[in-house]
Amino acid sequence: MPDTKNAPKAYPPSADMVANAHVTLSQYGSLYSESVSDSEGFWRREGGRVDWIKPFTKVKDVNFDLGHVSINWYADGTLNVAANCVDRHLATRGDQTAIIWEPDDPKDAAKHITYKQLHASVCKMANVLESLGVRRGDRVVIYLPMIPEAAYAMLACARIGAIHSIVFAGFSPDALSARINGCDAKLVITADHAPRGGRATALKSNTDAALLHCKDTVKCLVVKRTGGQTTWIDGRDYDCGEMMLEASDISHPAEMNAEDPLFILYTSGSTGQPKGVVHTSGGYLTYAAMTHEIVFDYHDGDVFWCTADVGWVTGHSYIVYGPLANGATTIMFEGVPTYPDASRFWQVCEKHKVNQFYTAPTAIRALMGQGKSFVEGCDLSDLKVLGTVGEPINPEAWNWYNDVVGKGKCPIVDTWWQTETGGHLMTPLPGAHEMKPGSAMKPFFGIKPMVLEPASGEVLEGNDVEGVLVIADSWPGQMRTIWGDHERFEKTYFSDYKGYYFTGDGCKRDADGDYWITGRVDDVINVSGHRMGTAEVESALVAHAKVAEAAVVGYPHAIKGQGIYCYVTLMNGEEPSDELYQELRKWVRTEIGPIASPDLIQWAPGLPKTRSGKIMRRILRKIAEDDFATLGDTSTLADPTVVTDLITNRMNKQ
Ligand code: ATP
Ligand code: MG
Repeated sequence: MPDTKNAPKAYPPSADMVANAHVTLSQYGSLYSESVSDSEGFWRREGGRVDWIKPFTKVKDVNFDLGHVSINWYADGTLNVAANCVDRHLATRGDQTAIIWEPDDPKDAAKHITYKQLHASVCKMANVLESLGVRRGDRVVIYLPMIPEAAYAMLACARIGAIHSIVFAGFSPDALSARINGCDAKLVITADHAPRGGRATALKSNTDAALLHCKDTVKCLVVKRTGGQTTWIDGRDYDCGEMMLEASDISHPAEMNAEDPLFILYTSGSTGQPKGVVHTSGGYLTYAAMTHEIVFDYHDGDVFWCTADVGWVTGHSYIVYGPLANGATTIMFEGVPTYPDASRFWQVCEKHKVNQFYTAPTAIRALMGQGKSFVEGCDLSDLKVLGTVGEPINPEAWNWYNDVVGKGKCPIVDTWWQTETGGHLMTPLPGAHEMKPGSAMKPFFGIKPMVLEPASGEVLEGNDVEGVLVIADSWPGQMRTIWGDHERFEKTYFSDYKGYYFTGDGCKRDADGDYWITGRVDDVINVSGHRMGTAEVESALVAHAKVAEAAVVGYPHAIKGQGIYCYVTLMNGEEPSDELYQELRKWVRTEIGPIASPDLIQWAPGLPKTRSGKIMRRILRKIAEDDFATLGDTSTLADPTVVTDLITNRMNKQ
């Protein structure tokens, strides 16, 4: 890879890290073998992470055959997820902080919520939900900013056995009404306004607009976050704060079956129309708790910060369910990385003495573009482990994260997983594995990744192979269905490659047997007969000092079949020029080889991204093909004007 030329190829964990880690290399080896050779025995033991009301006797009942797909874990056990995340810690750590809430404006005070306080709030919220008629199995849509009430609402649903579906607060009224109707929700929980980056989104008026397109019976519970003005419909809208003041703080947790749904959550929509992923209770919680503890090497007393929003699966598993099941202290951050300035993440790390920090490549690239002075002013000496998730991380960004943020002493867990998988499937473990910039390295326990030849589906054995990534066996955190559309579930994940869970991602197993995610299968391009993941060309471009971000797609090319079309965002202060255009072409040619030479470069002041921050290459592909009329589902696009600008530039051929 271009930018690792002068750096060591792999970074071993420090002796310190190895000495204290939950899992060392030799333990990984023996546990991993056990987890795949005696899957039942392994997961029976791990099921002990959860407090069961009625213990399970059956561990696993799974069928991946098309037409009969069904996935069950711990199916005859009963439990309550909220009791596992809250009540069971009261005796031993009732006064420990469960959630540190860091508000958007650093001038406002952070809140430290103990497990006891969390318990009282969750019970009150559970009683509020019941008083509004929410019952076991009912759906509740949560459309809230990153405030403690979002966690209370999730756990209150879990407590009474209702199914939550969180809609990220950045979504429009249309996306919200589609999701309320999609799961036939009885109630939507929202706030008056959502402060973020110094601006406030009018969430309640978005909700009002959404509810115009929903059943009249849908009720609306409103958290007053700013106290700003909203319209109010008596009999439909309820004041959460007032009701919680009056509600009892005694609430009996419902006894739920392990396979009762816990939540519905839509995927990011990077590759098409979002899918309503269903996760259930016992297996999901076991897997979220286990991965949180082992992948981040979380120890009692550590402060854990995942910067995601609870609107994404990362926020579900690694802000709320995983950390709280483990009795951790978890940070909920309301703001954005660049407000008031690009030092905010690092200010928060210093202020709360963060030990594990987990973010996305999009944030790292954005902060890298601002220069390292924002990091250097902050004391990051408490950091032990860094994590990344969401997209392949370019080695350039990885190196910056490692050197500038981690000061070369914090292992980086590059966690590959999906909304569908509930928790991490591949990642290096901090005290066990070497790290290679950009590689997801190793399967987690119980995960059997296989690389297949895309066309024939033939299993590619051995090392140094590249193809599509499938998983050969189930794990407890796996999704169970698409809400209301089991057929789409089977078709999407089990029809292309018989008997396997198809991830939709491309993958390479290198000469050492380590895994690299090469991007979406749809994003693989074929240039003059050479198959190429777009991630590699993007990484080469990002490694150039003047390039902040790049997205690469294929487009029809008369001679090569597909040509390489690059959208390039320059670093702050850099200007596009013909010289730079030629220089970048030459750069990629020398870094990767003539076959990867860009055919076209379009300067892109911004790239189209999902609201979770992922580049939407399918839209870029359409623009490169001059097909502006059918861009596909754009409902999860963060900023539609980016697309309009790119189309205008494309039409003017810059
Ligand atoms: P949709 O399924 O609707 O197209 P999406 O796949 O972006 O949207 P998510 O579940 O949020 O929805 O994202 C999962 C995908 O993100 C993975 O399939 C993979 O392509 C990418 N991804 C996540 N983490 C990593 C990582 N560490 N390295 C590489 N890719 C990653
Ligand atoms: Mg996906």
